[in-house]
Amino acid sequence: MIKFLDLEKINNRFRNEIDKKIADILDKGWYLLGEENTNFTKNFAEYCGTKHCIGVANGLDALNIIIKAYGFNQGDEIIVPANTYIASILAITQNGCTPILVEPDIKTYNINPELIEEKITEKTKAIMVVHLYGQAVQMEKIWELAKKYNLKIIEDSAQAHGAIYQGKRCGNLGDASGFSFYPGKNLGCLGDGGCITTNDDELAAKIKAIRNYGSNVKYHNIYKGVNSRLDEIQAAVLDTKLKYLDNDNTRRRKIAKYYRENIKNAAVILPETYDENAHVWHIFAIRTKERDRLQNYLRENGIETLIHYPIPPHKQECYKEWNHLHFPITEEIHNTILSLPISPVMTDEEVEKIIKIINTKME
Ligand SMILES: *Cc1c(COP(=O)(O)O)cnc(C)c1O
Repeated sequence: MIKFLDLEKINNRFRNEIDKKIADILDKGWYLLGEENTNFTKNFAEYCGTKHCIGVANGLDALNIIIKAYGFNQGDEIIVPANTYIASILAITQNGCTPILVEPDIKTYNINPELIEEKITEKTKAIMVVHLYGQAVQMEKIWELAKKYNLKIIEDSAQAHGAIYQGKRCGNLGDASGFSFYPGKNLGCLGDGGCITTNDDELAAKIKAIRNYGSNVKYHNIYKGVNSRLDEIQAAVLDTKLKYLDNDNTRRRKIAKYYRENIKNAAVILPETYDENAHVWHIFAIRTKERDRLQNYLRENGIETLIHYPIPPHKQECYKEWNHLHFPITEEIHNTILSLPISPVMTDEEVEKIIKIINTKME
């Protein structure tokens, strides 16, 4: 069986380094907001090219805390792609804000910048861009709109560690960015983790306090904060793995290129990229009208695939109030999309096998 993602294999490459770091933490007896956190967040900020990086407990919290730090709440509108993962939307509604859903471009799967301006009202406070599947959003038009209407740009970079747009990394393309280090992400830890990057000194200081009970000085609470910290063990694991992130992304790009050059099946639409550096291929999503049949066929042939995502946010039970809405491009994507295995530890033989089976006519 070719697994969709072999996490054991991914992390075992760093077994010795991780074992040693965890032993060091046990020896020191310091588990939260310590040296590992300082080191990793400093290194990740440097990697992204931002002034600040603040560790938090997960990617959803990262987005949630950014919105909280800006003070956006009831009545405020935040523009967001309609086909994003549910967490982007949850972060908005958890703050009482209203998500304004915008259709994606079917070629990139990212928000269609041409459809944003018509959705801007006097209540709009921010545009949340999501670098979906690992491809950086083409920001040009969005920067223009943010300037023109005085809006914040919040990036959801949970799938795009290391992706580059016009020489800058994701996490450094807006006012503040949320990252997730969920195990399956391109940079993943051994549990939950996340961070926020920004160049804004004031915002960074506020976020640092909010994620720690709203406190900068112990037992002095200036904000109604939350408890959302990146623990020392996860920070240590991430600091180890960060050194290999670019190599891993290069391997993903090679596999994606190989898939794109060699999958030849008239029923399959391959994902596109406008620039090799812009995509870190967190997910290799093909589309086909025969999605469910192809998924079964691949499973019968020992290949595990996943669907990112089977139900769009506006059709979810938890957002009943939007169930009557129609976003045809988003729905088309959700009905036809299928994610093939892609990871830095996949072998050439595995990639070849997947291509061979997709290129063989289904019976
Ligand atoms: C994974 C993910 C998140 C949430 O991250 P968690 O760490 O799981 O909370 C948010 N947005 C997107 C696009 C994601 O893929």
